[in-house]
Amino acid sequence: MTPVRTTKRNGAAANLSSAHAVPALPPEWRRFVGHWLEDSGSTVKSAARGDWEVELSEVLRRRWRRQRMRLVFDPQRPTLPRGAWFTAPGSGAGRRLLDAATERPEFACRTALAHVPGAPENGFESVCRVRGLTWGPARLGPVHYERRISIHAVVTRWGGLPWQEPWVLLMSAAGAFLEWAPGLDVPDARTRDGLYQISDAPSREQRARWMALARAHLDRLLGEREAEWDRAVSRQRDEELKRLGAFFSSRIEEEEERLRRRTGNGDESDLEQGDATSLKLEWERRAAEVRSRWALRTEIRAWGVAEWSWPVAQLTQELRSGAVHVRIEAPVDVARGKPAPPACPSCGMPAELLVRARRSVGCEHCG
Ligand SMILES: [Zn+2]
Repeated sequence: MTPVRTTKRNGAAANLSSAHAVPALPPEWRRFVGHWLEDSGSTVKSAARGDWEVELSEVLRRRWRRQRMRLVFDPQRPTLPRGAWFTAPGSGAGRRLLDAATERPEFACRTALAHVPGAPENGFESVCRVRGLTWGPARLGPVHYERRISIHAVVTRWGGLPWQEPWVLLMSAAGAFLEWAPGLDVPDARTRDGLYQISDAPSREQRARWMALARAHLDRLLGEREAEWDRAVSRQRDEELKRLGAFFSSRIEEEEERLRRRTGNGDESDLEQGDATSLKLEWERRAAEVRSRWALRTEIRAWGVAEWSWPVAQLTQELRSGAVHVRIEAPVDVARGKPAPPACPSCGMPAELLVRARRSVGCEHCG
């Protein structure tokens, strides 16, 4: 360990506008970096001031042409030990790590353990209210295991202050979207390694298809979030443009006032007219810079793929009101002991409220 000399810091933090506070790094980022490095065969040791000293794996040694490296996570550090990497979300080093992780995603096989009980005793009552009807006893069918795929990605958002978030997406084996959540792992699932009751191994092409499908889901979901980000970012961008505008208009006003005083009758010389013009050009150039600095751009890097064996079962329950008896059926996520909202018997939409409708049952959409 010889970090004696220091170099000027580099990386994203140096590019951040000094007018803004540097945000603290999310702890998940550190966890992800450590997890990925150890998984790739590197050794991670704690060093002074919260840094990490990393002994790189063979593959990473060749890739980055170094034996070991020092990772610095503290965005407030004014200088870096020589050769250290400032490992912030969106920093040069952070992106190098993510690029390596994307090329060789972790591929894991896992089983979600069944929750006990597999469904709540009151069945659909826990997810669907009723009016003028009563639920009969709930009956849970046999548990079987179906294949699901989770894709773990880090999303970097550029525009103003670069920011990074880990996301996990869960889909069916056919590629249908099931859920997504911020974080490094599928939430609320107890797991063990290996695939319970699933023995056929997916082909390389199948895995590539899953990645493509996951990418399409993430693009769509993040597109929706980008609209939210855009609102937040455009406020800050417009404030900056306003400050810039106020500064330059008063400079130009001063210039024109000076000109009036000097020429007396508004008879301007070319040279002095040129001063106001170059101020206007400078204003335009600076405004274009501000706009491009705040321009929104989202990058998605998938670093892990997990195949899951996921317990599911069918839940059946009767809805009763006098002579009306309607059988309701829907799948249950047995890993979480949670039924899906049942489909409305009249319109088929997932229902959170069922009511009596003529001689049948309807929901809040159709009843
Ligand atoms: Zn309905």
